[in-house]
Amino acid sequence: MRALVLDAEWSPRPDYDLSEDEANRHRAMNSSQVWKDPELRVTERERPDPADDEVLVRVKYAGVCGSDVSMLETDDDGYMHYSAYTRFPTVTGHEFSGEVVETGADADLFEEGEPVTAEVTDYCARCQMCRQGFHGHCENFEQIGFTMDGAFAEYVTVPEKICWSVASLERTYDDEDELYRAAATVEPSTISYYGLFGRADGIWPGDYHVYHGVGPIGLTGMNVSRAAGAGKVIAFEPSDQRRKIAHDLGFEHVYNPIEVDPVETVQEVTHGEGADVHVETSGAVSQTYPVIEDTLAERANVVHISNAGSDPEIALRKYQGNSAQLYGSEGHTGQQVFPRVIRLMASGQLDNRGIVTSTFDLENADTAIEQATKRVDGKVLVKMS
Ligand SMILES: [Zn+2]
Ligand SMILES: [Zn+2]
Repeated sequence: MRALVLDAEWSPRPDYDLSEDEANRHRAMNSSQVWKDPELRVTERERPDPADDEVLVRVKYAGVCGSDVSMLETDDDGYMHYSAYTRFPTVTGHEFSGEVVETGADADLFEEGEPVTAEVTDYCARCQMCRQGFHGHCENFEQIGFTMDGAFAEYVTVPEKICWSVASLERTYDDEDELYRAAATVEPSTISYYGLFGRADGIWPGDYHVYHGVGPIGLTGMNVSRAAGAGKVIAFEPSDQRRKIAHDLGFEHVYNPIEVDPVETVQEVTHGEGADVHVETSGAVSQTYPVIEDTLAERANVVHISNAGSDPEIALRKYQGNSAQLYGSEGHTGQQVFPRVIRLMASGQLDNRGIVTSTFDLENADTAIEQATKRVDGKVLVKMS
């Protein structure tokens, strides 16, 4: 089968404290410390066979994520920017939709022909974190498209326990191609969904939501906020193209934080009440946190989602004075987040189709990732067949 494979040179930085497991398995815990000179290639790979507890999925669409971009981008010494877990060479891609074409000997949750999407983290279900219900923080996890082969390929094998049917979307999208395009955006939507409802506490219909950063996670997040009954959704984003996408999705309050004063703007739009929900999806935390802290409504929830390279100064007194809470949120695993997001999509309330702005075929998947490095798209998709 054809697949987009990312490879890099294992070359731990001299001052990096390499663990024994990393040295033995070449599975990096901090990729930016060990992997050099990443290279992408569309190449021929053996079609995988599903293990007993897996299904084989014929991939229809896979989306390019910020992490796919940061596995390709490097610093001056050639080390990749991505700082979490990887093993290479690996077929990348983890936001996907497809059709089950084969099931392993013990896999019986899905039928052949069923349209599906999947979570990213294959958790062990046995470690302390898993047994406490925090599958996303499993101590023995693997990740599709990072430490195991992913979805920029004609086929991918997926443990059935992290696979979810999207057959309910047939009611919403009568065109099969539309269904699979939409289903490939379930995964990015789950990131903010989990932050808003799995992590933060007490977000109510009618709350004012502010997104700081309107890339793919911000855009899908704004759609989730609207579907969940936000009173107003406000957004700040310096890219003209991305602000236009948000406008075209029907969002009225989208601003360039370089041209307007974001604090004044939030106060104006919320009639001086401040925002109840603040979502950090930009990574530019030294700019965004001062704005967040000056626009906190009473009992505001701040949801931190982005991967920021540095830490902002936090004005603790402002959280105290407004009974506000800051929640860190990572991933989307477990807690029925996936099926709920799929239900929102099936009900027609979450419609991400307008977020997809570029589509490439598999032979040009490397170009798709280069396109995403420009950071002007809503979502870049790769179409497999
Ligand atoms: Zn992603
Ligand atoms: Zn575990």
